[in-house]
Amino acid sequence: MKVLVINCGSSSLKYQVLDMTNEVLMCKGLVERIGMDGSVITHEKIGEEKVKNETPMNDHKDAISIVLNAIQDPETGVVKDMSEIGAVGHRVVHAGEKFASSVLITDEVIKALEECVDLAPLHNPPNLLGIAACQELMPNTPMVGVFDTAFHQTMPPESYIYAIPYEYYEKHGIRRYGFHGTSHKYVAERASDILNVNLDDLKIITCHLGNGASVSAIKRGKCIDTSMGFTPLEGLVMGTRSGDIDPAIVTFIREKEHLDQGVANDILNKKSGVLGISGVSSDFRDLEKAAEDGNERALLALKVFAHKVRFYIGAYIAEMNGVDAIVFTAGVGENDIGMRDIICNDLGNLGIKLDLVKNRVRGKETIISRDDSKVKILLVPTNEELMIARDTYNIVNQL
Ligand code: AMP
Repeated sequence: MKVLVINCGSSSLKYQVLDMTNEVLMCKGLVERIGMDGSVITHEKIGEEKVKNETPMNDHKDAISIVLNAIQDPETGVVKDMSEIGAVGHRVVHAGEKFASSVLITDEVIKALEECVDLAPLHNPPNLLGIAACQELMPNTPMVGVFDTAFHQTMPPESYIYAIPYEYYEKHGIRRYGFHGTSHKYVAERASDILNVNLDDLKIITCHLGNGASVSAIKRGKCIDTSMGFTPLEGLVMGTRSGDIDPAIVTFIREKEHLDQGVANDILNKKSGVLGISGVSSDFRDLEKAAEDGNERALLALKVFAHKVRFYIGAYIAEMNGVDAIVFTAGVGENDIGMRDIICNDLGNLGIKLDLVKNRVRGKETIISRDDSKVKILLVPTNEELMIARDTYNIVNQL
């Protein structure tokens, strides 16, 4: 079966077609500037040159329709017609407490996801638009929803309840949900395969360190804690997001700087993190270059980032009463040799010993701990699309 994976943002859309008989990626692409001037699709049939096409797209239905044309195109396409696509897997950011795993999309599922729009006002509406557009253009193709929050639904209440009046949880669903679940689940499963140890016998800390970043504690294959919370703002220091701060700072800055709520929100989400500390960039490559050139705030930003990752690793070791494997993934986790080095530095008493030579690697599945390290350290490139395609295939295959 061939599966189309759709990840719909407000003005952009990523897609892939995978042949699930052998889990091979056939084509992938990106649509940008949906509903704006200069809408453009970049399509890549694997093994061939990328093709870029500027073409007007007024809405998500136009965008999906152009994606379907690209994948059926006699030259750049990978299927003769849409009947070859057995299912569509949709990434959906927030499923609240409604779904703890991926599900076949039905009218009831859509209704449940619409009820989660308040929890993810920027993400769920475009995800739902993508589903609606696909349903209209492929009315007979089964669709599956794969949720960023689902994997974290196994957290116990002591991990997800905030110490604020309980009625806010009951009335408004204010609790910790966690995000990047598909990635944490994928890399944990890969780590178990690579180590050749059953997930049920492992305590794993997965570090998804990208522009957005989160850490999860995974005990016997189940997430028991994660650093993102009610929104993806909580937890680690990120590219432009503050992560954990004293909540009193928000009211204090608003008063001192005469900011309205929207601006304060923008500052915490878009102007904070390593960008906010350094004033240089949210990109770790720029920060490392600046730090090398003597920029002290860039160096400080890198140190604050690493400090927070180590803080969570320590916390999760305590929560799980130990750890067997630490996994690094996403842009920084997969590529930033220096950052992995700082994060793992001087943790020998916890049985965590990075091999500085093996660590000199980027974007490749491998073990980077020393042979005498009790805790294995792994680098696993994430593959959320494959995970979405797998869940979609498994659900649709059983219909
Ligand atoms: P992601 O959100 O997972 O796509 O990660 C994007 C981030 O990864 C970028 O903003 C960079 O900070 C970081 N990154 C990518 N490549 C490298 C690299 N070679 N060295 C350091 N950081 C990198």
